[in-house]
Amino acid sequence: MSDGAACPSGGPVAPTADALDALTRRLEARVARERRAREEAERLLEGKSRELYEANQALSAAAADLEQRVAERTRELDDERQRALQRADLDALTGIANRAAFERSLREALADDPTRAAGVRVLLIDLDDFKGVNDKLGHGAGDTLLVTVARRLCAAVRPGDLVARLGGDEFAVLARAVADAPTASTLAHRLLDRVCRPVLLLGRSVPCGCSIGMAEAGPGQADDVLRDADLALYAAKRAGRGRVMPFRVELRAEMDRRAALDREVRQAVALQQIRAWYQPVRMRAKRRFVGAELLARWHLPDGEVRSPAAFLETVEALGLLDAMMEGMLSQALPQVARWVAQGRLNYLSVNVSPTQFNEGWAQSRLPQLLLDSGFPPSALVVELTETALLHDIGRTREMLEALQAAGMRIAIDDFGVGYSNFSLLRQLPFKVLKLDRTLICDIEADADARAVAECILQLASRLGITVVAEGVETAAQARLLDQAGCDAQQGYWLARPGPDLAAWFGPLA
Ligand SMILES: [Mg+2]
Repeated sequence: MSDGAACPSGGPVAPTADALDALTRRLEARVARERRAREEAERLLEGKSRELYEANQALSAAAADLEQRVAERTRELDDERQRALQRADLDALTGIANRAAFERSLREALADDPTRAAGVRVLLIDLDDFKGVNDKLGHGAGDTLLVTVARRLCAAVRPGDLVARLGGDEFAVLARAVADAPTASTLAHRLLDRVCRPVLLLGRSVPCGCSIGMAEAGPGQADDVLRDADLALYAAKRAGRGRVMPFRVELRAEMDRRAALDREVRQAVALQQIRAWYQPVRMRAKRRFVGAELLARWHLPDGEVRSPAAFLETVEALGLLDAMMEGMLSQALPQVARWVAQGRLNYLSVNVSPTQFNEGWAQSRLPQLLLDSGFPPSALVVELTETALLHDIGRTREMLEALQAAGMRIAIDDFGVGYSNFSLLRQLPFKVLKLDRTLICDIEADADARAVAECILQLASRLGITVVAEGVETAAQARLLDQAGCDAQQGYWLARPGPDLAAWFGPLA
């Protein structure tokens, strides 16, 4: 400080009162300025602290909210996972257990503990002719049938038994603690009885049938018991369907025979051992044979000839029908074409399976085979059974018209039995109708069969459809059919099938 700190002479001088006052005032002013500055700083600090506190509070609230949302989402994901796990165990269509769940439950039931494994039975249930329902009434009706069967099975089992759909039209029941064979048989027959009742589909009552194979398990043999039940089911089907078949050891030998037949049939198709045979058709008006139906026969290397009953089902099951038909047709068509060219034979008729018709083989391959062999399409008749026709009549007509457009004629085969639908004759472009052999077989003795045959003949005649009676085996049947105005006949009475057309149509020039 310089004010009054020294006197001009150089020695210390006492400050005057005025100077002290001034000094005091300046100091006080300074203290006051500093206090104000401090207070201002404190206010600012307080403001900032409040802001910080509020920001902190907001942040905590946001964090809590986020935490809650994460927890909720985690819960949702857990629920979804649970539902997905449940879905993986359930058949989506019927809501009962699926194959994975069934096999797991079976393994658990048979695992190590022999007391738990005792009395475990597996019943395999397969619908009879489910494909027919799907083809005729559509997949929607087929699904309704499956749901109905699932419900009936669930209602028929005992508490604790597991009902599952293994796939397609195959169901299974896992029955635990079955006391003995009679108890198992009672359960199986109850299932059969419940399932085999008509089902209402698209407003009509449709018969529903099933076959059941049943097997008893030993500890830890999940695969064995399933295979045994499957063998029993197959045996039930072969024995005529609509029945229960318990497993027996001999069925294993049958399985080996089946596997051997599969191998032999594969080879027969590959080597074209399944060859063309024919059965001639006699026309009433011309009093001679005019056409022939193409038939299949298996020629074994040792000279044995087997009829289709011995191989056709296997050929179809192995998916070899197209290959077999192409082999036969590429052999038969060029041969028959020569008889046709010389005016000895008017037509050849060929049986086409429902699958071959519905999946387009007939529409795509037949015209090509005709072209390759120089066979005139107008001399080919395609025989289809009613089971080949779809429930969608418009679509069926389109598919038939595709064959017609290629020049072929269409025959409805095996007509007059079961649920023959007369309106089809008017709705679809059939040129030929083949009267089923079972009807012909009855016309001598059964007045009703005769009336049905006569009625079909009159209707066909009005619609301009040619009728061929199949399976004519006696002179009396032939005479009755001639009298009733049936256009043509084929059967053992007229000619047995054979491989050589010359036998009926004379040698080629
Ligand atoms: Mg036929």
